[in-house]
Amino acid sequence: MELLDKLDANLQGLRDKHLIRTRRTVDTPCGPRATVDGRELLAFCSNDYLGLAAHPAITAALREGTQLYGAGSGASHLISGHGRAHAVLEERLADFAGPHLVEARALYFSTGYMANLAVLTALAAGDSDTEIFSEALNHASLIDGARLARTTVKVYPHANVEALDELLGTSRAGNKIVVTDSVFSMDGNLAPLPELLALCEKHGAWLIVDDAHGFGTLGENGRGALEHFGLRSPYLVYVGTLGKAAGVAGAFVAAHATVIETLVQRARPYIFTTAAPPALAHALLTSLDIIAGSEGQDRRSHLARLVAQWHDGLRLTGWSALPSQTAIQPVVIGANDATMAAAAALYERGIWVGGIRPPTVPANSARLRVTLSAGHAEADVALLVDAINEVNAHMERSRDGT
Ligand code: PMP
Repeated sequence: MELLDKLDANLQGLRDKHLIRTRRTVDTPCGPRATVDGRELLAFCSNDYLGLAAHPAITAALREGTQLYGAGSGASHLISGHGRAHAVLEERLADFAGPHLVEARALYFSTGYMANLAVLTALAAGDSDTEIFSEALNHASLIDGARLARTTVKVYPHANVEALDELLGTSRAGNKIVVTDSVFSMDGNLAPLPELLALCEKHGAWLIVDDAHGFGTLGENGRGALEHFGLRSPYLVYVGTLGKAAGVAGAFVAAHATVIETLVQRARPYIFTTAAPPALAHALLTSLDIIAGSEGQDRRSHLARLVAQWHDGLRLTGWSALPSQTAIQPVVIGANDATMAAAAALYERGIWVGGIRPPTVPANSARLRVTLSAGHAEADVALLVDAINEVNAHMERSRDGT
């Protein structure tokens, strides 16, 4: 059929550019050791930064949640799907993020992707006088949310506060929205949030912070990037995801109560979808206890030690390890085929690291995206570092023909 031939030709185009993606099927929890095709691998590719995804207290809470509330929510939140566990979780999340906001309220979403679509569309909704200012390296869900908001979008260069100041200064829009990742998902570095917030206060703009990779891992109490930088403002709209460091699933938006009520009334990705199973919300209460308690602190300290060990051990030529201090530790190789060959060589050695190619990252900056987790032992990171050093030396030697 002609229509299928067209799709086939598109897929062949991806294959030709080394851009075809494959999935591996994992038979175990996503912890530091994962079994794939009957083989145990040391995995450095999940976002389970605190090693909570298979934590016994959280899986027990999930079981308890299903006993209390069943498997599914049965409806969207505004019909009959809003369960007690969702309500309690939202109160806990509002308290958790509260020190950094004014009159904080929180709203739980099924995924971070939907939360990002929701905040951008709802804050822009019905206001033709809106402009969105979006950081160049923002996550796809923010880019899509800005598109769906059907308003003017200006992309400012990565971490460039001066450029943003100028854009905001020349904007005539009455409703200005600045949106940024806090920890850049493919680079691991932090956005200059204090400077961005100062600009937003100066120009009367909202600052939406997507803390998908900071929530749970940054800050003394794991409250994330706002705690890390000590920020508080009524201009802040905070998005935290709960499927990464929190080890379960979903996301939340925390902001001034009026912003949250606007989301409840207007955000289509909130209104027109079945509520996540309440058991997930119930399990997340235990995640929050762990993140905020001494176990969370211990896990964050251990993770910081692993990050230091990683940087100390690397001996790379030709490839560049980015100077990230977070759990996301990219090694930029450049070419798509070389990056996938490096990932394959590591896989041969029993080490699973993701290879990331355009359009997820800019052209010619394909990279290995190593993610460290508090679930890893120092011995695991030692194996990883040795393997990467070896693969790098081997590939660079063959490239030079020596
Ligand atoms: N924001 C960022 C920065 C992310 O990296 C991701 C997921 N990779 C999301 C949002 C989406 O979150 P979720 O996976 O919960 O949909």
